[in-house]
Amino acid sequence: MKNQTFFANNALLASGWCSKVRVEVCDGVISTITVNGDKQATDIELEVLLPGMPNLHSHAFQRGMAGLAERRGASADSFWTWREVMYRFLQVLTPDDLRIIASMAYIEMLESGFTRVGEFHYLHHAIAGQQYQNPAEMSLQLLTAAEQTGLNMTLLPVFYAHAGFGGLAPEAGQARFIHNIDSYQTLLSELRPIVAAQQGAVLGMAPHSLRAVTAAELNALLPLNDGPLHIHIAEQQKEVDACIQWSGMRPVQWLAEHVSLDARWCLVHATHVSEQEIVAMQQANLVAGLCPITEANLGDGIFPLPEFIANGGCYGVGSDSNVCIDAIEELRLLEYGQRLARQSRNVATTQANSATGDSLWLAAVEGGAQALGVPAGLAVGAAADMVSLTNRHQAAPLFATDNLLNNLIFCAANNLIDNVWVNGKLVVEHGQHPLREQLQTQFARTLTRILRQ
Ligand SMILES: [Zn+2]
Repeated sequence: MKNQTFFANNALLASGWCSKVRVEVCDGVISTITVNGDKQATDIELEVLLPGMPNLHSHAFQRGMAGLAERRGASADSFWTWREVMYRFLQVLTPDDLRIIASMAYIEMLESGFTRVGEFHYLHHAIAGQQYQNPAEMSLQLLTAAEQTGLNMTLLPVFYAHAGFGGLAPEAGQARFIHNIDSYQTLLSELRPIVAAQQGAVLGMAPHSLRAVTAAELNALLPLNDGPLHIHIAEQQKEVDACIQWSGMRPVQWLAEHVSLDARWCLVHATHVSEQEIVAMQQANLVAGLCPITEANLGDGIFPLPEFIANGGCYGVGSDSNVCIDAIEELRLLEYGQRLARQSRNVATTQANSATGDSLWLAAVEGGAQALGVPAGLAVGAAADMVSLTNRHQAAPLFATDNLLNNLIFCAANNLIDNVWVNGKLVVEHGQHPLREQLQTQFARTLTRILRQ
């Protein structure tokens, strides 16, 4: 049993800011929280303590292609032309490449304040689509990257079987993704004991999208595991139109009619939803998985956030394509997208006079944790996944808590993250991960080789 106690002059609990907070940690889990406590000699003293931010949606390998699709093609560019670049990139990635790229991405996540990643993992097979000797080979590379960098992981192995609505046969570019129910079940069986043995790891499932899975497959899939369930949905208007053409229904509407939606579900993007679909999502107590940087980068559209949160809708954020990994920037852009679209301000808060920064951080911590199947925030029974801030780069008085997160999210350069702990273990010290330099070298070497091929 390893015990540690932290003493924060200011800490953000689920109820809001509290002073003189003692957080006792036993074997990586928060065992006691005392507000207005007395500092003891052995306590680790901090000025400001935040709950770490869950990153509910990542495709780690896409970190390797960040910046490669920011060039205009022959015709108008869209999500679908970006996907072509992604498919070409996939023609060369090896298991070692995946581990190195994922490790770089996870270091950047930790340094930006993310403490758990939901890895929506569909790159299962070898380059020509054949199974690796161990069918979980690529999943194991991701779990290793998470373990070595110290990031908690909710692994969401993806079930991907078709190229379009109605069970279309997969395309050649999708060969590395494809499973049937039997092979997917084998993958889960391989992963279950490995995930159980890794501290902080959780196993969920992810039917890729309604384009990639039929109703029969979805129903066969759902009883196979009892963890979180994630799906890409309604990201693009084109996808919504194709779904209506195929089924007469919009994507979320179709899903709500074909499965029993509940709090295990995370609907990733859900950008294009009707009023009725918003109600169905709220009633299911599920999480909307929003990825503001990627959704902006891919030109997806803007999720109707105020309508969704007005009746208690729950959301979290994800770095998705990892084109830019930054927990604070995800929250900033989430709010700014709404302001620009609505010609309005302070959209992500429903209460008069409440700080938008606090609302964003707490909502995304709670929604992210729910989506990733773990207890949320600085609370007894939750993992000691925590972030401390530094005041050294900030001209304004950051530590007045009534405005602290407003400063951090809207006014600060992104270098105020000081230390980060995952399961009570210090993984980022004074803003830097100890493996950063080593990984940068390996990452650069890997990318250079890939881009030459
Ligand atoms: Zn995604």
